[in-house]
Amino acid sequence: MTYENIDPAEIEKFEKLARTWWDLDSEFKPLHDINPLRLGYISQRAQLAGKQALDIGCGGGILTESLARSGAIVTGIDMGKAPLQVARLHRHESDLEIDYQQMTAEAMAQQYPGKFDVVTCLEMLEHVPDPGSVISACRRLLKPNGHLFLSTINRNPKAYLFAIIGGEHLLKLLPPGTHDYQKFIKPSELAKTLREQDLALKDITGMTYNPIGQQYKLTSDTDVNYLMHAIYE
Ligand code: SAH
Repeated sequence: MTYENIDPAEIEKFEKLARTWWDLDSEFKPLHDINPLRLGYISQRAQLAGKQALDIGCGGGILTESLARSGAIVTGIDMGKAPLQVARLHRHESDLEIDYQQMTAEAMAQQYPGKFDVVTCLEMLEHVPDPGSVISACRRLLKPNGHLFLSTINRNPKAYLFAIIGGEHLLKLLPPGTHDYQKFIKPSELAKTLREQDLALKDITGMTYNPIGQQYKLTSDTDVNYLMHAIYE
């Protein structure tokens, strides 16, 4: 059997919650709240209309649908069965055409090398055993000059305090145990992996949450959540 870059316990977490993926008052509220910010970030940096886009770890399809609405020809992949079921149902409600497949980034890269203009992998890298293997697959999936967008959580005491203690225990934005501190990734580590894969880093932008106004914004503060843009040059 070939090695698969999946942590079944991580997939299980999302299988259990999937029902409420599109419920704005659920555990998925943070993903809904940050979605306009990340779509804005992506669409300012890459053309989407008419382009082939792949959303890796798409879950119930929050970003995936936004990419399709922006005119991209979109494929969404995830290893969770229930999230994909939700995504497929919601696609009909939204009257969008999206190709959803239960597949890993690595398997996708074997089948469709060089197919995509835009690859997104948001809030997933901190749930896989080997993020470097996913990035390598992303590069193989891209056309030359294709765009890669990543987001994850930084690893430092402040990120532990904000993302785990604050987010999961105090503000209860996410269920306890959603994130494992050891799997958080420093921007410098991700930047190194991108370099090793011949991906040119174009930008790192932070995303912060203000619990008072309950608002997220894009900032230069990458201490906790951050987005990255790279190009396969
Ligand atoms: N990217 C989406 C969902 C993030 S939640 C968004 O930001 O809106 C993380 C998702 O990654 C879950 O749906 C989970 O099932 C998926 N996932 C975790 N490990 C994976 C893997 N190895 N391959 C594919 N999907 C994975």
